[in-house]
Amino acid sequence: MTHVFHRNPKISMKTAVSGKGIRLFDSDGKSYIDACGGAAVSCLGHGHPAVIEAIKQQLDTIAYAHTSFFTTQVAEDLADFLQQKAPGSLNHVYFVSGGSEAIETALKLARQYFVEIDQTERRHFIARRQSYHGNTLGALAIGGNVWRRQPFLPLLIESHHVSPCYAYRDQRENESEEQYASRLALELEDKILELGPSTVAAFVAETVVGATAGAVPPVKTYLEKIRAVCDKYGVLLILDEIMSGMGRTGHLFACEEDGVAPDILTIAKGLGAGYQPIGATLCTDKIYDVIVNGSGYFQHGHTYIGHATACAAALAVQKTIQEQNLLANVLQRGEQLRSELRQAFANNPHIGDIRGRGLFVGLELVQDRESKKPLDPAHKIHAKIKAQAKENGLLVYPSGGTIDGRLGDHILLAPPFTCTQEDISDIVSRLSDTVSQVL
Ligand code: PLP
Repeated sequence: MTHVFHRNPKISMKTAVSGKGIRLFDSDGKSYIDACGGAAVSCLGHGHPAVIEAIKQQLDTIAYAHTSFFTTQVAEDLADFLQQKAPGSLNHVYFVSGGSEAIETALKLARQYFVEIDQTERRHFIARRQSYHGNTLGALAIGGNVWRRQPFLPLLIESHHVSPCYAYRDQRENESEEQYASRLALELEDKILELGPSTVAAFVAETVVGATAGAVPPVKTYLEKIRAVCDKYGVLLILDEIMSGMGRTGHLFACEEDGVAPDILTIAKGLGAGYQPIGATLCTDKIYDVIVNGSGYFQHGHTYIGHATACAAALAVQKTIQEQNLLANVLQRGEQLRSELRQAFANNPHIGDIRGRGLFVGLELVQDRESKKPLDPAHKIHAKIKAQAKENGLLVYPSGGTIDGRLGDHILLAPPFTCTQEDISDIVSRLSDTVSQVL
């Protein structure tokens, strides 16, 4: 009997007792390679001394001060860092405690912006069918994950969905990436026209789709074309980089690679790398100025926004990434990971696609490569792989079942940015053994 509600009583769950580098250890002394950083969180691995020291120092000075009374130097410094690195004019940073809060902040920010400029009709959010944006009611409403939304449908704000950018499944034969991107942009435009352009507030998308589809990057020009459609109708573009941002793809902000800057951008997970819970919503000068020069303040807030200890952890994480030039390692090790996975699974008909950017890598499982038919969901292969991998001392983050009305089993890999060449080969070898044991 457990009193911890979020612990699944049907699954025997070991107690994690320590972590060092890419490894976690349980109370039996068994070690696990953390190849997914939980849910793409632990980008510096575990027990990082510089981050721990920064947290301790912050606790020795000021752990927390409520934002209605004070700012703290560390929150200012972290905001400066993000503002300097962020693309476009994303110069204003609203700190929160996690991903879902960052999304709620983004939705409310978009809505308040339009209220301030007297476009109060703008209330519709458009997102994509294959997406996850969090579990709070606003985030759930825009997410495409049907089964997650189902019990709460009567409570959710109205939202609308278009197709994801999912080349493996949806790009047609004889269609170039650019033509595919144009088709998706047209679909978004049609949806805006159907709803009435003056009623649409924002389009929300994950720059690289994470948990629902296993690291699916957009095809070339997709984000550019989407940006152009949004601009044409005065619709804000919100990019969710809660999973894909903060260096996971080899760029601090994933959209840098696409040469596109959104109006609002959300980050979390890798920002604090799991050392403290922290997320943030960044917005442009345009949005900030309208609100500050209008009613004067953003009608939002949580008790722990700008939490000093969380900001100290995040600042230390980000400084470490910069000082150790870890993004170069992310790009190099990511290439190695995809290449070794392709070799290891070259003759396995069930690995349909291997994809991703940087150290954000997904494998899609199928019945066979030719038909691309999904595996029978009743077999819950993704869950079996997760369990078997754990047995084999490897933590991976699978997903499966019905997402976006489609079936699909995926494995997501998101190892720490500090991974060595040997670590990557070890991950591939353990995963390869695991897949042969299960399939
Ligand atoms: N957005 C994306 C893309 C995510 O992957 C997640 C979490 O997995 C969230 C939002 C929600 O973040 P959190 O679980 O921190 O609330």
